[in-house]
Amino acid sequence: MGLDERILEALRTLIECADERIDRSPMGHLLAGRRENLHLQLRLPLGADPEAVEQVAGRLETALAEAIDAALQRRVAFRPGTVLCLRCSSTECGHGRPTSSRQVFAGYSPSGTPEFLDLGELLLSRHDPRVGELFDEGRAVVTHLMGEEDLCGRLLDVFKEQRAGYRIHGQVVAGWYRLPDPTGRPRALALSFQAVSTCPHRSPRRFGLNVLGLGPDGEPLAHLHDRMAAIPWAAAVRWAHSALSGLASAPARRVEGILRGLARRLERGQRAHGRRTHHAQRRHVEGGRPTRMALLDLTRAGENDLLFDTRHKTLVVLGERGRCHVFGAGGRLVTSVRYPPATIERRRQAGLWRRATPEERQALAPRTDPDGDEKK
Ligand SMILES: [Zn+2]
Repeated sequence: MGLDERILEALRTLIECADERIDRSPMGHLLAGRRENLHLQLRLPLGADPEAVEQVAGRLETALAEAIDAALQRRVAFRPGTVLCLRCSSTECGHGRPTSSRQVFAGYSPSGTPEFLDLGELLLSRHDPRVGELFDEGRAVVTHLMGEEDLCGRLLDVFKEQRAGYRIHGQVVAGWYRLPDPTGRPRALALSFQAVSTCPHRSPRRFGLNVLGLGPDGEPLAHLHDRMAAIPWAAAVRWAHSALSGLASAPARRVEGILRGLARRLERGQRAHGRRTHHAQRRHVEGGRPTRMALLDLTRAGENDLLFDTRHKTLVVLGERGRCHVFGAGGRLVTSVRYPPATIERRRQAGLWRRATPEERQALAPRTDPDGDEKK
């Protein structure tokens, strides 16, 4: 019996969508060469009510993102984006992540707390002569290599024992990547790429690459792919992860070789991708899917979901699951970002975002009638 070509086509499109999201995710390299299944539930509304279809599409999009996150989590014993805090023996205590987009992992304190430093400060403290290049606008990314002794050497023995098989063999820190904030202004981002290994449940040691960083507006790295058409470090990270995951044990020299290869690729990659990324970002914001999503969220938004950003004088439209669309003068879409609920709440409490007045809504919201020409 022949398959219905249309169902095949719909399925292919969905798979393409998932692949694209994985490629754009900062931890997508963990699923490279993947033989993984995503589990999705689909409720199919009959009839052609466009609103119902769009609702299902929205839910499916969220479910897809969650399924990818779950698949990523299954692949690793370490927690993506986090250093294990040895003082609390936890990845959930909050000590294991940077608190600003400019920070990189600087090593453990003697009592096991992960320490993070501004990339510039770290390079200064380690007498890296390239620190000056960091402050040279428009220069390529600067990388810096640190070994296990640099990162874990100060730990007291009692905290070394807390590691239970978890080891950071070394890392490359890199910056600045420049990302637009919600007003479109470029902001500096530094990242830590760590060669990590774990011994999950007495099985053999597994090696992988962890990526640590925080978006310029406090958003998790995993949300950045919503506003970056291409992740400039993705190819280098995939290469390093696949080299590391082939290791059975970790002769320090092998790991160092891989980290050096990673550093070279990060510096090269940034130069090669700079222009294209910029172009793709513009296209990403000016038309296509995020714009449709933004308009859809705008039509669904109640009064409480339409906020005025008092600092940037923009209109913020809250969508589902932390989606935020920022509109500027004349209803131009500045950016679409996902924020954790805590960030949104903090901004409301601080008065940075308050409910928009009817005049502000009138002035900043784009027209939402379907013939209103968004595409051109
Ligand atoms: Zn802690």
